[in-house]
Amino acid sequence: MQFDYLIVGAGFAGSVLAERLASQSGKTVLIVDKRSHIGGNAYDRYDSSGILIHPYGPHIFHTNSDKIFGYLSQFTDWRAYEHRVLASVKDKNDKPVHVPIPINLTTINTLYKLNLTPDQLEIWYRGRAEKIEHCRTSEEVVVSKVGRELYEKFFRGYTRKQWDLDPSELDAQVTARIPTRTTDDDRYFNDTFQYMPLHGYTAMFEKILANPRVKVMLNTDYHEVKETIRFREMIFTGPVDEFFDYRFGKLPYRSLHFQHETHDTEKFLAAPVVNFPSEDVPYTRISEFKALTGQEHPTKTSVVYEFPRSTGDPYYPIPKADCTALYNKYKELADGMPGVHFVGRLATYKYYNMDQVVGQALATYDKIVGKREQVAPVILSAPLTEKDVLRNDLKIPVAPGRKSQPIPAQPVATRADVSFLLSGGNRQ
Ligand SMILES: Cc1cc2nc3c(=O)[nH]c(=O)nc-3n(C[C@H](O)[C@H](O)[C@H](O)COP(=O)(O)OP(=O)(O)OC[C@H]3O[C@@H](n4cnc5c(N)ncnc54)[C@H](O)[C@@H]3O)c2cc1C
Repeated sequence: MQFDYLIVGAGFAGSVLAERLASQSGKTVLIVDKRSHIGGNAYDRYDSSGILIHPYGPHIFHTNSDKIFGYLSQFTDWRAYEHRVLASVKDKNDKPVHVPIPINLTTINTLYKLNLTPDQLEIWYRGRAEKIEHCRTSEEVVVSKVGRELYEKFFRGYTRKQWDLDPSELDAQVTARIPTRTTDDDRYFNDTFQYMPLHGYTAMFEKILANPRVKVMLNTDYHEVKETIRFREMIFTGPVDEFFDYRFGKLPYRSLHFQHETHDTEKFLAAPVVNFPSEDVPYTRISEFKALTGQEHPTKTSVVYEFPRSTGDPYYPIPKADCTALYNKYKELADGMPGVHFVGRLATYKYYNMDQVVGQALATYDKIVGKREQVAPVILSAPLTEKDVLRNDLKIPVAPGRKSQPIPAQPVATRADVSFLLSGGNRQ
């Protein structure tokens, strides 16, 4: 048995490519993942209280791309969800307050007990901003927009905890995309499409991977199978430095420890996510899952605390020039590897959001098929046996004896609504 493609990693990068290659080019695909589940870091599951949680931290879908939103809408209905975050800080009297982040009109008026209008706030910011010609660091970006006091209250401690680096040591791009608002718009993202998959990410991944030409092997490091499974080409979505046996040294990553807790109350937080910028608090944020998924449970709620770490699973590539230079050495090797495509967050050493990884995977598929003649569909000569390939349980596990809590039906965007939206319909 030979597969056309061996895909390493069943996250967005690997799963989208598996789906495209199987459904559009008739390719046979074996997708392996060393974890016990599909979905990569976007995987969700029900915990022992029946609450849908994100084991690898809260994942909120947002995109400006109608192509990406349209593509994923083939595999899920959606729940309208606009993300909002509060920061827990101290006001001018040293009293703890919760204020919107990104900083907006409400943030400033609450913190400084003011009653500014948007126009007045514009002038207020200008009066505090420091003049910096070319911002090179994260610190300079923020200080040049809102001044040093707000930088220290909201950004310095949070960044130092998250990266174990001072913002003055980090590339400007880390904070460059964070908006500073003069209105009371308290949405965390500005994107056109802000929706959560109605039945969760894992349910969406099950559909993405449902093509019979795609076989899934879980609990398997690709090193275990690469010599025994025959394949024509490989798509690698794991860490690029690992692929080349760390030839130039390890690429540095920042990791997180997730502390999951369930509380005997309907609601735990004042917002879906609360950030803690102060260095006196060891975690960076707490997220409450029911607020993200829309799930209802009258007496219980599950939350996750995030503690930044230097060791553990690789989550965030470090945005510093020397790390990029080290990655570029691996990229040169990767570019010279015939028959292996490096796709996704770990293989290209970039912090991408989910929609960007889907976009990268779709672009890679176009590149693969554009490069050569489209070939006739390959039909498997014999079905794979369980021994060949473990199509492990792809169902979301629900704790024995527990019923998963229903996810409410409204507000929902169905696939028909999505076609309407994408054809220029008016969204309400
Ligand atoms: C805490 C956190 C919060 C996030 N929140 C958001 C958010 O709100 N919105 C958003 O858009 N994005 C968010 N992201 C980013 C999002 O997780 C990524 O964009 C997305 O998961 C990347 O998909 P991927 O396929 O590239 O990588 P992954 O999801 O990491 O998948 C790679 C897979 O490869 C497997 N693998 C690695 N090495 C091997 C090997 N040797 N053999 C077999 N398998 C291997 C891994 O087990 C993994 O399952 C967040 C990320 C983190 C860390």
